[in-house]
Amino acid sequence: MEHQSDVPSVETTKSGLIALGGNLGQSEELLQDAIRSLNSHPRLSVQQCSSFYSTVPIGSNAGDRYINAACVFSTTLPPQGVLEACQAVENQLGRTREIHWGPRTVDLDLITYAGQIISTAVLKVPHPACWYRRFVLDPVCEIATEVVHPQFQLTFGELRNRILQRPLSISYATLEKTRQERIQERIRAHFSSGQVQVLNGNISATESAVIQLLTGELPPDHLTPGSLYESTLPRPFEDAILDVLRAALDEPEVNH
Ligand code: ADP
Ligand code: MG
Repeated sequence: MEHQSDVPSVETTKSGLIALGGNLGQSEELLQDAIRSLNSHPRLSVQQCSSFYSTVPIGSNAGDRYINAACVFSTTLPPQGVLEACQAVENQLGRTREIHWGPRTVDLDLITYAGQIISTAVLKVPHPACWYRRFVLDPVCEIATEVVHPQFQLTFGELRNRILQRPLSISYATLEKTRQERIQERIRAHFSSGQVQVLNGNISATESAVIQLLTGELPPDHLTPGSLYESTLPRPFEDAILDVLRAALDEPEVNH
């Protein structure tokens, strides 16, 4: 039937993307379990899954490499309900394996939901870090490269292409001089000039940077990709930026 608008419907079906990751124990098995478990929710079904990718560990506890994947789902749940379904899966898999593998086994993040922009204390959609993390972008682009990021009005394929630039250009024009120097020093210690390039100087050079470090709060009508607000990252900014760059520079390997 082509016109269904006159048919009363209690709930409509929406679709979206979930990113999955884990680095403890049998991650591939665990991600399979997570996908099965999500799909067993009466109001959510997993439509398509990416391959599994092996990615570099990011953060202070540099453990094993991570396994990451993404899936397309359809659901009659509201966005908050999808988040709760993801958390239920994390708890369920975390609890049953806790004894063998420790507390943190699988992480499920809601990346997009029906082209909506959501910002509450517990849920931010699109996921605020999805535009620079290769461990999200690579699996997402395998299955949903044409999906449009509703804030930036770019597809995930286009967002990934931005991040593929080498050297990756970053700017930090609004930071105080001493903080600029500290960041410059840390970047030099961790990355080569072929990997990361700092754009200084005039505003247009700064605006063309793929990643712009900015102080202050994220404006509610934030519409451009690339701006990274200090308030959205763990502190200190000088360290957090290294993790952002690691996530942007990684080359995930597909596991067949
Ligand atoms: P992380 O995914 O950053 O490693 P957690 O999985 O522990 O960390 O999530 C921390 C919090 O992030 C959750 O309590 C959740 O409320 C919040 N959150 C906000 N937006 C999202 C989102 N889009 N997907 C998943 N969690 C989110
Ligand atoms: Mg999470």
